[in-house]
Amino acid sequence: MQVAIIGGGYAGMAAAVDLSAAGISVTVYEAALQLGGRARRVNFRDTLLDNGLHILIGAYSETLRLIRQVHPGHESALLRLPMDWHIHGEFRLSAPRLPAPLHLLAGVMRASGLSFSERLGLARFMVALQRMQFQLASDISVETLLQQHSQSEKVCRVMWRPLCVAALNTPPASASAQVFLNVIKDSLSGARDASDMLISRVDLSALFPEPAAAWITGRGGHVITGQRVSALETHGDGYAVTTNENRQVFSHVICAISPHQVHDMLGGIPALAGIADTINGLRYQSIHSVWLQYPDAVALPAPMLGLTGGLIHWVFDREKLCGQRGLVGAVISAEGEHQALDQETLGIHIHEELKQHFHALPEPLWRRVIAEKRATFSCTVGVNRPPQLTPARNFFLAGDYTASVYPATIEAAVRSGIICARHIQNGRHD
Ligand SMILES: Cc1cc2nc3c(=O)[nH]c(=O)nc-3n(C[C@H](O)[C@H](O)[C@H](O)COP(=O)(O)OP(=O)(O)OC[C@H]3O[C@@H](n4cnc5c(N)ncnc54)[C@H](O)[C@@H]3O)c2cc1C
Repeated sequence: MQVAIIGGGYAGMAAAVDLSAAGISVTVYEAALQLGGRARRVNFRDTLLDNGLHILIGAYSETLRLIRQVHPGHESALLRLPMDWHIHGEFRLSAPRLPAPLHLLAGVMRASGLSFSERLGLARFMVALQRMQFQLASDISVETLLQQHSQSEKVCRVMWRPLCVAALNTPPASASAQVFLNVIKDSLSGARDASDMLISRVDLSALFPEPAAAWITGRGGHVITGQRVSALETHGDGYAVTTNENRQVFSHVICAISPHQVHDMLGGIPALAGIADTINGLRYQSIHSVWLQYPDAVALPAPMLGLTGGLIHWVFDREKLCGQRGLVGAVISAEGEHQALDQETLGIHIHEELKQHFHALPEPLWRRVIAEKRATFSCTVGVNRPPQLTPARNFFLAGDYTASVYPATIEAAVRSGIICARHIQNGRHD
């Protein structure tokens, strides 16, 4: 058995680790020079950035398991913070170290910035969600769900809408309430440490894909970077994979590339025409990350703060997270008016907005805007996500867009890769 994995993002590398662990020979093809895909290192002016600020949560069980499996320094690679939902100057909900679900109820009842009746309304909503076991009879939008449960405008503004946009990268008016509930169930309503926020102290390529590559090659697998797969065709019982440098035949293929690239890749496999059309039907949302390097002495009041009333959703102080002095990262998720601004204007605007929140901020030494136009698929009501198992024999799809209880996240990507690997190990399609 020879397995080709196309794409060295978190999904492809998770599949490769799982197969290698089972003693199966894998070859990973990654078009870019570095691994990680949408969660990758960016080097700018001798400063290690990421293409986007990423947060993992304690509920990312499979991602954390694989990081532990392949990363020799995993214990220091992630900073684990107990849940602290902090909207600057408006609201704060911290979960005390109590057993679940008391940690959350105590956090809600002690939350600052809400009236007693708003806190009670929030707690009632959580209890109602528990009673319905976080399941809807049919999917509705997050905004409709919040209305149905009479959540106050303030609670929606400081808690539910920012959580929806952060988790689903989709505006609440169109976001899937069922996927939103899946996230709440696993994070806020799971074990106490499931709601922890984990932030990488190393860049995102070094957190998992690169140690995974070393682990895989140590077991006889191949991870080839800088080789784009240009054609994929059926070949006897298997598949021929063509890159700019060679052509090789494999018994199995896991296609782990970003969804907007999949349609063209599947053209040589007629059995996948229907799936290719489904994937073509997905719509996308952007994420803009604005990095600002201030003088060393500049610090924010907390490692991570939510902001309202402007373009910025979250702002991060990288010194508090990973020791990069004066480096601040601002995140703008999903669609919005910021998309009309060019990158230079957006960078200036973000600095001005930060000055309104944190007075006396000096001019940054430099700014870098990273716009991921297709950061994630739009996780709307009833969105149709393709399964990992396809009608083509020994051909599987991995990626954050494939069928999952989770929205487009690192955990969805990793789990999809593991599902493909397990199908191969269990001989599905063989
Ligand atoms: C700015 C931003 C912020 C985010 N924030 C978070 C967050 O806070 N928490 C979270 O959990 N998730 C977050 N996400 C989502 C997360 O990054 C993705 O869900 C995850 O990285 C997707 O991984 P993947 O392996 O499915 O796809 P990708 O990362 O897209 O990997 C696909 C890989 O395939 C390669 N490829 C494509 N075509 C070819 C080809 N022809 N031949 C060979 N290789 C090819 C690509 O170069 C790429 O490396 C964020 C995403 C972005 C963009």
